[in-house]
Amino acid sequence: MTLEPVNILGMSRRQLEAFFLDLGEKPFRASQVMKWVHQQGVHDLDLMTNISKTLRDRLRPLIEIRPPQISAEYAATDGCYKWIVQVTSGSSVEMVYIPEAGRGTLCISSQAGCSLDCSFCATGKQGFNSDLTSSEIIGQLWLAKHALGSFVVGGKPITNVVFMGMGEPLLNYDVVMTAVDVMMDDNAYGLSKRRVTISTSGVVPAMLRMHEQTDASLALSLHATNDELRNELVPLNKRYPIIEVLAAVKHYLSKLPDNRSATIEYILISGINDHRQHARELVKLLWDIPCKINLIPFNPFDGAPYKRSSNSSISNFRRILIDAGYTVTIRTTRGDEIGAACGQLVGKVKDRTKRSARYREAAGQQIPVVDVSDNSQD
Ligand code: SAH
Ligand code: SF4
Repeated sequence: MTLEPVNILGMSRRQLEAFFLDLGEKPFRASQVMKWVHQQGVHDLDLMTNISKTLRDRLRPLIEIRPPQISAEYAATDGCYKWIVQVTSGSSVEMVYIPEAGRGTLCISSQAGCSLDCSFCATGKQGFNSDLTSSEIIGQLWLAKHALGSFVVGGKPITNVVFMGMGEPLLNYDVVMTAVDVMMDDNAYGLSKRRVTISTSGVVPAMLRMHEQTDASLALSLHATNDELRNELVPLNKRYPIIEVLAAVKHYLSKLPDNRSATIEYILISGINDHRQHARELVKLLWDIPCKINLIPFNPFDGAPYKRSSNSSISNFRRILIDAGYTVTIRTTRGDEIGAACGQLVGKVKDRTKRSARYREAAGQQIPVVDVSDNSQD
């Protein structure tokens, strides 16, 4: 029986050290290999010149460095890029590169689809197919850094990673924590804790234990100021209501050694959660949480039941928060001509929940899925 080679792309240093120890090798081989793979972009063992030929020959049948395949690339006129990434479950996910003044942000996916069905989110409407592996998550960063270099021309190298693509990262907890570990490892990407952001819709048990694994930045998708409305927008709220979710944010911050704040994300949906009264309620709700507030004008998708707030509602909302002393950013809509804006990511998910079919029926139309079947790239 021949063993499948292990894909080491998504392994943390600790995991790789254990792997080498098992082989009777010195653990420092882990950092040597990680530097080749993540810093130099090398996936051919023969190019790893500080590893002896004997060891390379031994490793060859045992390991592989295999990023996922990209099946399509889209460029927007504002410098954003979107890639369709194929994952082993047969689905595809999306990843987006967003250049901004002084930084380049990569928005990555953690699951193919999402089981949480937020009412404003195209990914949620696709249903859920699978968790990504750590190699598929790190593979997105690896590809963007080493293989998809075209966007760096006139753009910025990747300085920030946000888990704001498809899926709920805290429902793929162990894998996401391993991937974050690799992102922040000095032998790999060396990103600082402030430059890796995990965005969650509020999976409280995971938020309460996250500090044991990581000190990455946390963003909470709040979107409503009372449970009745949040139950509608983010159904997970029925399990973990606002008061518990905010307590979990505070708990995470309290465990970090530095004075860190969280990001509170708040979508602005016309006539639903964008009244002045909502802004005033938000001011009260967040009074004891060190945070900045990120307002995200709702990004429409075909069949979406909502509209984006008007510019005047957005600016009134923002003014109330600023006057109350909050730092507020408005997420400018980037890449929406290529369907790359927040909440527009759909990939091509083989839905196991059959939610997409029900949704298509209810919406009376097709969800815009990118057809990647004849488009794969070797
Ligand atoms: N599941 C995680 C991370 C992925 S969603 C979460 O919910 O936080 C990333 C961000 O995009 C979240 O803040 C989410 O609320 C937002 N988003 C989803 N659909 C959107 C839409 N249609 N318009 C604007 N933002 C959206
Ligand atoms: Fe899932 Fe986040 Fe979309 Fe909600 S907003 S359905 S949690 S990806």
